[in-house]
Amino acid sequence: MMPCHNLYYSSDHCFVADFDKVISPISVAHFSQHKLVDLLLKKLEGIGFQTYLPDEIGSSTQDLVLENKILMGHECSSIQLTDDGILVGASFNNAGRMQERKIHCGLLLGADGARSTVRELAGINMKGQKDLQKLVSVHFLSRDLGKYLSRERPGMLFFIFNPDAVGVLVAHDLEHGEFVLQIPFYPPQQMFEDFSTKVCEEIIVKLVGWEPTDVQVLDIKPWAMHAEVAEKYIGCNNRIILVGDAAHRFPPAGGFGMNTGVQDAHNLAWKLCLLQNGVASTSIIQTYESERQPVAHFNTELSVENFKAAMSIPATLGLDPTVANSVHQVINSSLGSIIPRNLQKTLLEGLFSIGRAQLSDYVLNEKNPLGSSRLARLKSILDEGKSLQLQFPAEDLGFRYELGALDAEDCAEATCEAERQKHSKRSREYVPSAKVGSRLPHMLMRALSTSNEGVFSTLDLVSGDKPEFALIIAPLKESYDLARAMLKIADELKLSAKICVIWPQGSVDAKVRGSRSELAPWTNYVDVEEIPRASVNSWWETCQINRKSVILVRPDEHIAWRTESDRVKDADSEIRRVFSNVLCLATTIQ
Ligand SMILES: Cc1cc2nc3c(=O)[nH]c(=O)nc-3n(C[C@H](O)[C@H](O)[C@H](O)COP(=O)(O)OP(=O)(O)OC[C@H]3O[C@@H](n4cnc5c(N)ncnc54)[C@H](O)[C@@H]3O)c2cc1C
Repeated sequence: MMPCHNLYYSSDHCFVADFDKVISPISVAHFSQHKLVDLLLKKLEGIGFQTYLPDEIGSSTQDLVLENKILMGHECSSIQLTDDGILVGASFNNAGRMQERKIHCGLLLGADGARSTVRELAGINMKGQKDLQKLVSVHFLSRDLGKYLSRERPGMLFFIFNPDAVGVLVAHDLEHGEFVLQIPFYPPQQMFEDFSTKVCEEIIVKLVGWEPTDVQVLDIKPWAMHAEVAEKYIGCNNRIILVGDAAHRFPPAGGFGMNTGVQDAHNLAWKLCLLQNGVASTSIIQTYESERQPVAHFNTELSVENFKAAMSIPATLGLDPTVANSVHQVINSSLGSIIPRNLQKTLLEGLFSIGRAQLSDYVLNEKNPLGSSRLARLKSILDEGKSLQLQFPAEDLGFRYELGALDAEDCAEATCEAERQKHSKRSREYVPSAKVGSRLPHMLMRALSTSNEGVFSTLDLVSGDKPEFALIIAPLKESYDLARAMLKIADELKLSAKICVIWPQGSVDAKVRGSRSELAPWTNYVDVEEIPRASVNSWWETCQINRKSVILVRPDEHIAWRTESDRVKDADSEIRRVFSNVLCLATTIQ
């Protein structure tokens, strides 16, 4: 939504497919990060973790055993490689005095955000574009504003450009009036310290255009926008692994930041678990980098492109942010050392205010030729959907791993697809795929066996609580042979695995019982039929495979391997070969 003083344009970013849950069992949601963190902590407590404040674990600074402990108020401040791991210094405030505890661990995951200390201590550099923009983020409450927007202009994201101020308002919760405002600023003439609570309240009033009575500023923080990816995700002899913003930081345009980080964690968790259990080899850690780093590069470019698309709106209105940056650079380079800082500040703010005058009703009106042509251009950008995009199903769900913990297939085709994606970065439709490396397509299934009633998504086939593999087959003799071999070898390897047998619609009970005799003595299988949906292809059509195909799904729901079962000569040795590749073992499992 983009209100000027009197102009207001809105655009709807909701897709019907989201709410029909066609491509995913879950629809897109807008959820504040601080609420998500609380939920995650609750979930961790539910599985036996406990949070501790510094004074709850005493002030011993020596070698703390961390099992199931979440140390609040601690920061990684030093690392030291040892013969068998890494000694981490965690600093905490003890009655006003900073102290450091030592924690000895085998691995250190740096999930400490865009300004990652762990990344810095590991000496890993970021590559890309730095400091695209400095911003101040203001978290505030105002039920008054929430009520007004719910009534007059319901929306989530408000790009506000007016002659008095410029900012982006994120409405986290209109009902309770919770907002976060982003305001660009230009140091050293404008400093973060200039943004006191009072100044922020004034800016809110300027942007809103009237004075909400109950604005309560909760937090004011500076941040810098970058478009960078860590040159490597793994350092210090496989002892340090970067995850989330520590590994990549994008402009927040398109919702890729947190989502890419969650995907990183999803990719890494099962690999670490199998490594700890002694099932996978250490080199499985490297597949985390080879699978995730290309996704981060792709999402960085996409976020930059999307950010530029968002900025095409102010540029069209005569308020080009690149001009603001150039003016700022000129002042820095030519006047920086000649005139005092406060004069530079006055000059910069004067120039910005002249720029914002382009947004006044005098300029932006239909009677003014310049104003009317700008408004026409603005309308065409919005009508053609060329401004900020908020939904990227093709990229959020359709990314595919080419090299990694999988049994790769048809490389030429994979490369070709990567090229195609590189050249077409705007939001595209998500096309489900069952190619190796893709995320398993979502389809609703109904369990047929009486012991296992219920409807579930194919994405919920593998357990969420432990690393589990699943083999999806049709009830055909050769496919059952592969399934039996897979259950046997998984058992030898102490891997959790299950079979999913997809029966044709309306298969009778007696037939379905066939799986029991085919798969005996194993019982970890489920017989299912798909739930037909109008306008949605069958499972086999969606996957573009035939019923002889079998698909091995990894614990993170990406496809590790697929084949046609009648092509496999020796099921046992084929499954051994596949698991050796997926677990990155140096030699084939015997
Ligand atoms: C304005 C804005 C809007 C955004 N909107 C979206 C969006 O709509 N969708 C989306 O997907 N992403 C969005 N993002 C990006 C998203 O916020 C980040 O990608 C995400 O928070 C990264 O998660 P993280 O856990 O890697 O890092 P963070 O969320 O930064 O968490 C890092 C944690 O590490 C802690 N920490 C820091 N240093 C240390 C240390 N030395 N030792 C121990 N702990 C430490 C911090 O206290 C913090 O708790 C947005 C970002 C911004 C700035």
